Amino acid sequence: MNALNISPENLVQQFASDNYAGICPEAWAAMEEANRGHVSAYGEDPWTDRAANAFRDLFETDCDVFLVFNGTAANSLALASLSQSYHGVICSDTAHVETDECGAPEFFSNGSKLLVARAVDGKLSPESIHELAAKRQDIHYPKPRVVTITQSTETGTVYTADELHAISAASKAHGLSLHMDGSRFANACAHLGLSPAELTWKSGVDVLCFGGTKNGMAVGEAVLFFDHRLATDFDYRCKQAGQLASKMRFLAAPWAGLLESGAWLRNAQHANRCATYFAKQVAGIPNVSIVSPVDANTVFVEASDEILERVRQRGWKFYTFIGGAARFMFAWDADLARIDALVSDIRDCAR
Ligand SMILES: *Cc1c(COP(=O)(O)O)cnc(C)c1O
Repeated sequence: MNALNISPENLVQQFASDNYAGICPEAWAAMEEANRGHVSAYGEDPWTDRAANAFRDLFETDCDVFLVFNGTAANSLALASLSQSYHGVICSDTAHVETDECGAPEFFSNGSKLLVARAVDGKLSPESIHELAAKRQDIHYPKPRVVTITQSTETGTVYTADELHAISAASKAHGLSLHMDGSRFANACAHLGLSPAELTWKSGVDVLCFGGTKNGMAVGEAVLFFDHRLATDFDYRCKQAGQLASKMRFLAAPWAGLLESGAWLRNAQHANRCATYFAKQVAGIPNVSIVSPVDANTVFVEASDEILERVRQRGWKFYTFIGGAARFMFAWDADLARIDALVSDIRDCAR
């Protein structure tokens, strides 16, 4: 028993979500270092400068950097800055902005409508962008203005550089800005072995929401504008939305810790490797199959309700909210022994 009287079995590693994990050592150490003495508030501190510069170094460009508390805010405020209330935002039907943000993108943009396309393997296609952008030209329909894609996607796939170029070309052909929900951006970089610059501004992405929480931080996402004009007054938008941290150094320091040490990439590489390791073993089990390609740190396992229920009864937690399959997510600290235990239980339960 620990001080909070939480029993040990409730602290054991689960793979229901990558945000079940704690804070990685590099982020934690930076927060501890930032916890010395007094500094100015609201981002006027050395840690915020240091984090912003670490982003500029990593992305090899002079981008504008804003730190907010979570991904819903990052996405919603970024999309609001790219659109007027009468505009439309093209996204896939599996997009977090559509399925998991409680209407925040529409709320913060004062009414921009999400224009939803059917995703294949979690991805938006250039064809669906053309279709939605050209569908209506009349005054009665919201004017398409932005495309948003998720990298890595909600189903664990990753857009290749070629796919990004094609999406960007389709967007530009219709005069649409391109936003990227990168709550698992690091996992995409790790999977493709390409630089953050190549996967964003060099591929035509205008704004990136870079996820820190699922990468090993306690809390925090960064909004990166690669075109200074689009960042105009974004600081006011954040403040109005309750997203300006007064003790900003504690959002900034873990970013400095992650980026300067390279942990952001190592964490993602480990998480991806664990997903692949798990998927390979589960693939050999009868009555169970892997749906959706495993590019990043997510694995979807399809099995009968009876099998999944038996796995649950053995104490494993997982969600089935996307298409009915069991989703397993691997975090920066995924433990191979726990993965082996899960595989072994799935094998037993599938008999
Ligand atoms: C987790 C996640 C977010 C961020 O969600 P918050 O709970 O608001 O931090 C955004 N997009 C995707 C695809 C996610 O998985």
